[in-house]
Amino acid sequence: MIDIKHLSKYFNDQKVLDDITLHVNTGEIFAIVGHSGAGKSTLLRCINGLEGFSEGSVNVLGQEVKHLNESGLGALRSQIGMIFQNFSLLNQKNVYDNIALPMKVWGYSKEKIQGRVDELLKLVGLEAKKCVYPKELSGGQKQRVAIARALTLNPKILLSDEATSALDPNTTKSILELLQEINIKLGVTIIIVTHEMDVVKRVASRALLLEDGKVIGLGRIEELFLRPDEKMMRFLGEDE
Ligand code: ATP
Ligand code: MG
Repeated sequence: MIDIKHLSKYFNDQKVLDDITLHVNTGEIFAIVGHSGAGKSTLLRCINGLEGFSEGSVNVLGQEVKHLNESGLGALRSQIGMIFQNFSLLNQKNVYDNIALPMKVWGYSKEKIQGRVDELLKLVGLEAKKCVYPKELSGGQKQRVAIARALTLNPKILLSDEATSALDPNTTKSILELLQEINIKLGVTIIIVTHEMDVVKRVASRALLLEDGKVIGLGRIEELFLRPDEKMMRFLGEDE
């Protein structure tokens, strides 16, 4: 599904990803955890080809990202949905048009778009908000719209960059439940970037811990959190 080998990346002279090797399995919910500046968002951007890198390989859905041309990258990105902390909705467009946008870009017919958007509105529980504008929605509702939009093209992978960080605990819980439902019902592989340990423990099967671009932990949640080694203890201690 996603196979990363010895990935290193520099911004100017700063090594922001340092020899990352990682395999994400089809159908899993995988977490990437680390403090601010650890390289989490950069790693996600390497996975969907938004960011180049200097060393190593990133293979996504059987394709070597660094060998893809623009149209290959476009096709790959259509199979990868992405959601963010700030939702990234278009404020001048209503809920329907926000969700429809990726299908419009890809030239789908109006009928196809209507059917798909209605299906997604139902999945995220926002049928009643179809014609409403983002400013009239709560944070959790905005994230539901963003999730629906990320799913329009039926992606195999969903990347979530701090998607619950701006939400209160109850809203976070409901968004995580929605992501779990999407993972199970639609079989979408999900990578969750977060600095919140609770989020990781609640939904992920495995996690990667990043510190200054380096892997300091990789494995099943029970192993990482219930039998932490010295590095992990330090990491968790700092997080309190
Ligand atoms: P946060 O939790 O704050 O979102 P992060 O783990 O996502 O942090 P990244 O955004 O991946 O961290 O950044 C990793 C490092 O790369 C940081 O030191 C950052 O300053 C640097 N960096 C990120 N993007 C750029 C860029 N476009 N140009 C130069 N340096 C960058
Ligand atoms: Mg980030």
